[in-house]
Amino acid sequence: MADGIQPQPGIMNISLYQGGASHLDGISNVIKLSSNENPLGPSPAAKEAFAQAGAALNLYPSTDHMALRTAIGDVWGVDPARVICGAGSGEILKLLGEGFAGSGDEIIFTEHGFSMYPIYAHSCGATPVVVPERDRVVDIDAILNVCNEKTKLVYLANPANPTGTMVSNAELARLAEGISPQTLLILDGAYAEFVEGYDGGKALVEARENVVMTRTFSKIYGLGGLRIGWGYGPQAIIDVLYRLRGPFNLSSAALAGAEAAMRDTDYTEMCRIENAKWRDWLATSLAELGVPSDTSTANFILARLANAAEAQACDDHLKSHGIIVRQVGGYNLPHCLRISVGDENACRQVVAAIASFKSATK
Ligand SMILES: *Cc1c(COP(=O)(O)O)cnc(C)c1O
Repeated sequence: MADGIQPQPGIMNISLYQGGASHLDGISNVIKLSSNENPLGPSPAAKEAFAQAGAALNLYPSTDHMALRTAIGDVWGVDPARVICGAGSGEILKLLGEGFAGSGDEIIFTEHGFSMYPIYAHSCGATPVVVPERDRVVDIDAILNVCNEKTKLVYLANPANPTGTMVSNAELARLAEGISPQTLLILDGAYAEFVEGYDGGKALVEARENVVMTRTFSKIYGLGGLRIGWGYGPQAIIDVLYRLRGPFNLSSAALAGAEAAMRDTDYTEMCRIENAKWRDWLATSLAELGVPSDTSTANFILARLANAAEAQACDDHLKSHGIIVRQVGGYNLPHCLRISVGDENACRQVVAAIASFKSATK
């Protein structure tokens, strides 16, 4: 950059996001278990709606997203007026930072929290504050302890990524009650739909003025490639986000695909049941091989190896078998591997490969 031209404060502190790898040199049929994608793909109705939208790509998309917001309202029992849709829930999470925090403010997230949170904090110029967890579970008291008059946002994923653990609604309510008056609690529900009966924080959003929840089409809905997600919160908060949001942030094809996916609740339920079945089988099978994990409520498990060296060796072994999982050293979990729940074949293959790794290193 020329002398004198400087990016905004904080931006040069951002380290580029490391996505899950998707290919291995020399192997054509890799099993990708590194990005928590739905192995069953999107609902057939979503694929059909997406394809049909291709006939009218000369037209600008809806700017108020009302058809999708109405579908979300019908399915989740939320008020469409207080729903905002974004290019992934990531856009909503970022807008919350831009709208409510800046230079001199603090944004809290936890030790093993999602690696986009520090990026959102730096991108709005705020100072990230990292709070310890307790044995890979979010520690509400630790968050309350560091909250002060500079704290503007708390980002919290529930279920959490990459740990897969959850905190109860009662604990979330205690957090929302205990944070400072100028602090917003952001409940990132990227994996909420995998938890039977969990509202993603909806009741808490409706009971309070300081809680926002975000959801995504990238995980259970199998639409990571579309880039679409949504947020729900108090009207005054959502109105701020609408001022910042680009008028045509979502394509017509994405809106159509997401709406059809949202309305196909039978398909979503089938995905939830399949995921739970294979997740629990995967966790139990790995535990029998001496590789434990915390009880996961999401579509991945966090497998714990003896130490960082064993995690690296296990990852190398899996790669040599054409299986890509996620190293999570960047999440302060160097002895762990995050393994997405694939289909039956993928689950069986990953267990067989870890079994051969374990017997070779005995
Ligand atoms: C995958 C994920 C998201 C979703 O991001 P999108 O932008 O909606 O694709 C959000 N939060 C967490 C914790 C995630 O793991």
